[in-house]
Amino acid sequence: MGVVVQKFGGSSVKDAESVMEAARKAIRAKHAGNSVIVVVSAQGSTTDDLIAKAAEITSEPSAREMDMLLATGEQISIALTAMAIQELGERAVSFTGPQVGIVTDSTHRKARIKKIDTQRLCEALDSGHIVVLAGFQGIDEQGDISTLGRGGSDTTAVAVAAAVKLAGYEVECEIYTDVDGVYTTDPRIVPDARKMDAISYDEMLEMASMGAGVMHSRSIEFAKKFDVPLMVRNAKSDAVGTWIMPEAPWMSEIPACGVALAADESRLLLEGVPDRPGVSHRIFAALADANIAVDMIAQSVGIGGKATIGFTVLNTELDRTKKILGPIVGELGATLNETGKVSKVSVVGAGMRAISGVAERMFQALAAEGVNLKMITTGDIKISVLVEEDGAAESAVIEPGPAEPIKKAHLESKKAVRGRRALRAVHAAFALAQPRKGAGAQPAAHGEFRPRPAPLVLPAKTEREAAIARLAGMEDVLVSGVQLNNEQSRITIYDLPDQPGNCSKVFNAVATGGILVDMIVQNQSGPAKAELSFTVPRADLTRALKRTQDVVREIDPGCRVVGDGDISVLFVLGVGMRTHTGVAKTMFGALAAKGINIAMINTSEVCVGVVVERARGEEALACLTEAFKLG
Ligand code: ADP
Ligand code: ASP
Ligand code: MG
Repeated sequence: MGVVVQKFGGSSVKDAESVMEAARKAIRAKHAGNSVIVVVSAQGSTTDDLIAKAAEITSEPSAREMDMLLATGEQISIALTAMAIQELGERAVSFTGPQVGIVTDSTHRKARIKKIDTQRLCEALDSGHIVVLAGFQGIDEQGDISTLGRGGSDTTAVAVAAAVKLAGYEVECEIYTDVDGVYTTDPRIVPDARKMDAISYDEMLEMASMGAGVMHSRSIEFAKKFDVPLMVRNAKSDAVGTWIMPEAPWMSEIPACGVALAADESRLLLEGVPDRPGVSHRIFAALADANIAVDMIAQSVGIGGKATIGFTVLNTELDRTKKILGPIVGELGATLNETGKVSKVSVVGAGMRAISGVAERMFQALAAEGVNLKMITTGDIKISVLVEEDGAAESAVIEPGPAEPIKKAHLESKKAVRGRRALRAVHAAFALAQPRKGAGAQPAAHGEFRPRPAPLVLPAKTEREAAIARLAGMEDVLVSGVQLNNEQSRITIYDLPDQPGNCSKVFNAVATGGILVDMIVQNQSGPAKAELSFTVPRADLTRALKRTQDVVREIDPGCRVVGDGDISVLFVLGVGMRTHTGVAKTMFGALAAKGINIAMINTSEVCVGVVVERARGEEALACLTEAFKLG
């Protein structure tokens, strides 16, 4: 017998009618012969309302007390949902996170799951109950209530599915929400966004961590790590949703599957940073120790022994970040500047690993909109740009009326005026509204994209203990490999005028030559100037350099273009690379300990890339392999 985990988000249990509807879905799954676990979020805007209540008392509530408060939202939902199921004639039992032993670390408000004890859960399932479990919450080792971060019920659902799978059940997880599935972008911002039939774990990880709020990114980490079949679908219909699954061969033919917008980040610029080994480590280790996830990091190559490091953090972490970096910046003789509100637009697609011209197409679309790019970074399967927001345009935006759903994320996205414009332009440039394989070329048959996870070697029930032991540290970072690429070279343009269209011109020139650009980093390098670096295959360096020099001469003869064939690129691959603050710290720390200078950095959820001088590439590979215990 299989287990179905059904998660209902806030809007899907917002009132009695929705709760009854969710209860009916759970009962139907039970009658179809499954054991059923229902994970529920707080009703409607409850969590936002609770946060507002705390704000009436204090502007700096303690994180522990906030968790105590926020966890109550989900407790209401489980009781009501269990009552609804009982009212419809089925047996149900509700549990809070602590009751079923969802043990987390003690980072209140963004705790990570350490283990789940499935015993009580499985006993309730085995006795024929539908289990109704509170999402978003757990208990730390001191016995205090913790929460997993906004949107964390998705993570509860997938983590519980993974735990139940390891306890020997066949499992599937369904995420019920207020849209039909995962769209090419947020359908609230781009009405012609298209629903996808399937998306890979890595693509969804990047989409979610770059702002696609439909899934909590950490839930995808679990799904990937434990190979949990996962579908996002509509709570108000029976339509087939979107499968989130291992990468299929057809996905690599699609350069861009979706675009995402994040409007809640601030950009910081560290200028005049000494360009020597260990400096990046010093800075990012301090932030990692404070559990601050740095999002984009763009380090300019540096002239005259000084580099500029640009990075972004969540707005909510801005003050803490400044406080932590203050003394370090003083020590390094650098300056820390905050550069105002920004929006981040990212394009994601497994196909961009091998298909050239993706960056060019994105930058061209943004240039045509007159959007200036303040920072660019790339990952294996994503490109992100930062767009400066316009305060005046924002204040002209009409706030949603009472008929609109009150969701914090929604209100914030309404404000990113330029970001939303940029998002629409990029969505159109990749023709994402058009049907394609995996996004409605023909209506998907129910089983067409269904993932088929490798058959599990089922442990006997008596082996549950052993299975539980395997769950210890279940949300620990998974670093799967380190790769060295000695076939790349780098081109750097210094003093590129900071104005719309220049990046587009450069990458147009390179793409027209059919040259595949891999890493791209653009950062501010002085007033109204940017520094743009990118890597191309070494075999193409001469051609790419010539094309770049020609186009840059037209832009501004004052720019300097330098080619460097003597580089190595190193990638650390895995899941949760960006949000697990320790990854960058370990990586930079290991390189610093060997005195290896980092010339370029790129971070994403599935890969962190650095450029070092080629003579030290092998050594860097060895030290990273050791640091991540992959040897
Ligand atoms: P729930 O309360 O069910 O967890 P969320 O509000 O967290 O729901 O997530 C659903 C919302 O995510 C949708 O209403 C949609 O506006 C937003 N969203 C953002 N990006 C996407 C995307 N790429 N596909 C679908 N929905 C998206
Ligand atoms: N109720 C929590 C929130 O609003 C968790 C969730 O909905 O996933 O963030
Ligand atoms: Mg959600």
